[in-house]
Amino acid sequence: MLTGQEYKDSLKDGRKVYFEGRLVEDLGATPGLSEPLDAIADGYDKYYSSAPDAVNPVVTAPRSVQELRDRIPELMELDLCLNVTYQSLMTLLVAAGRLENAAPAYIPRIHAYVEQARKDDIRITECITDAKGNRSLHPGKQEDPDAYVRVVSRRDDGVVIRGAKLHISAAAYGHDLMVMPTKTMKPGEEDYAIACAVPVNSPGVHITNTTYHPLAGDPRDYPVSSHHSIPDSMCIFDDVFVPNERVFLDGETAHAAVFAHSLGLWERLGGVSFMVQQADELVGLAHLIAEANGTAKISHVREKIDEMIIHATLLRAGLEAALSNAHPTPEGYYYPDDMFTNVTKYQGAAQFNLMVRHLHDIAGGAIVTAPSMADFDNPTLRPFLDKYMGTGGGISGEYRSKLFHAIRDTTADAYGGWHLVTNLQSGGGLYAQRLVTRKNYDMERARALGLKAAGLAS
Ligand SMILES: Cc1cc2nc3c(=O)[nH]c(=O)nc-3n(C[C@H](O)[C@H](O)[C@H](O)COP(=O)(O)OP(=O)(O)OC[C@H]3O[C@@H](n4cnc5c(N)ncnc54)[C@H](O)[C@@H]3O)c2cc1C
Repeated sequence: MLTGQEYKDSLKDGRKVYFEGRLVEDLGATPGLSEPLDAIADGYDKYYSSAPDAVNPVVTAPRSVQELRDRIPELMELDLCLNVTYQSLMTLLVAAGRLENAAPAYIPRIHAYVEQARKDDIRITECITDAKGNRSLHPGKQEDPDAYVRVVSRRDDGVVIRGAKLHISAAAYGHDLMVMPTKTMKPGEEDYAIACAVPVNSPGVHITNTTYHPLAGDPRDYPVSSHHSIPDSMCIFDDVFVPNERVFLDGETAHAAVFAHSLGLWERLGGVSFMVQQADELVGLAHLIAEANGTAKISHVREKIDEMIIHATLLRAGLEAALSNAHPTPEGYYYPDDMFTNVTKYQGAAQFNLMVRHLHDIAGGAIVTAPSMADFDNPTLRPFLDKYMGTGGGISGEYRSKLFHAIRDTTADAYGGWHLVTNLQSGGGLYAQRLVTRKNYDMERARALGLKAAGLAS
């Protein structure tokens, strides 16, 4: 296994990582990129063992509903890079099971890769979402044939791929990019049915970075995002060679979606668990700021907080239903129920803006105008800030301002804006959840009830 420092050193491998238009020489020396690096290194140190055969215990699949449930607190604690590594390896294992009859040649490669990745203690990020060009056209019909990642040439020893995967979380921090087709491919689109593991430092790979991490200002004014941030990337594959032993699907269009479907099983549990926690956090902030403002007992404020509580509790109930109705894969790994997970994700995303509106309505304008913590350091200002930001009864100006900074940071600034979009789009937009819901809902039963109510049941 690697220590945190060994992990950091391992990323100095000639990778082409960019930030704000410049090639990054050293992630650790780049503000905005160094903080996530430290957090991931801490994750390495947390699980490090010097035993020769040790592997990270996190990277194992749940074998029962209870194990699945027990996994949640751990997932919430993991750094995102370890989380997506876990998801990537579980995805490969499940996909291997599903390809067993259809494309058995890939199975030994997949198992060998997973084994080696565990042994080497590497981090792997998930590259599914393509540039996609015109969304109404299939990959093979695009004006630019590279709108979806594709194989441009095949050699005896491997394939050469071209294209880009967008919005990839933590791509610059992993060792390998797990490239998977974003959807089912049609006959004639064989070149787009490509799944493979690409080392980040492969010639031809370029990785951009965007981050909501506060790049200027006092970290105390950004109490959440200055500690927890992870950049998102565009991963460009400019004719990248991938050796055969790292190719897990090449040309089998009928099975192109196996990887994306398998990933969905593991990805959603983390996403929905986070949403449940986020909803409770919004309730907590609303209650604390109402109390600090002296409005906690006013009826319209209480009603808004009640609505937020109901929302948070419904999300928790949805997660619980998804866990209680978990299903085993043929390989004996448990994954949360599709219908309950998707409905919960939909509800969490669709109602998030309303919950934020309630919080902003309750809290007041100081969400965006509270004095900075540096203002509190100024001896001339401090007495005035204590006097005018305090509300009596032991609520100091500093305490109340800290609440406002937390609310601004998580809901009304760069990180807050990132949340608004990410809740909707990550794991697919609202439409994607509606499709799953429609497919799984028992419409026949609902229709029978309708007919009965109308006196039309036979
Ligand atoms: C912060 C963040 C992190 C992410 N991390 C990752 C990651 O690590 N790995 C990864 O692979 N992806 C990642 N994603 C990508 C995410 O899965 C996509 O953003 C999402 O699937 C939507 O794709 P898109 O952004 O290209 O938008 P679009 O596909 O353009 O979708 C925009 C809207 O158009 C609708 N739409 C598009 N095409 C159609 C169609 N043919 N029919 C009907 N409706 C359509 C969608 O439903 C949506 O409502 C991340 C996204 C975000 C925001």
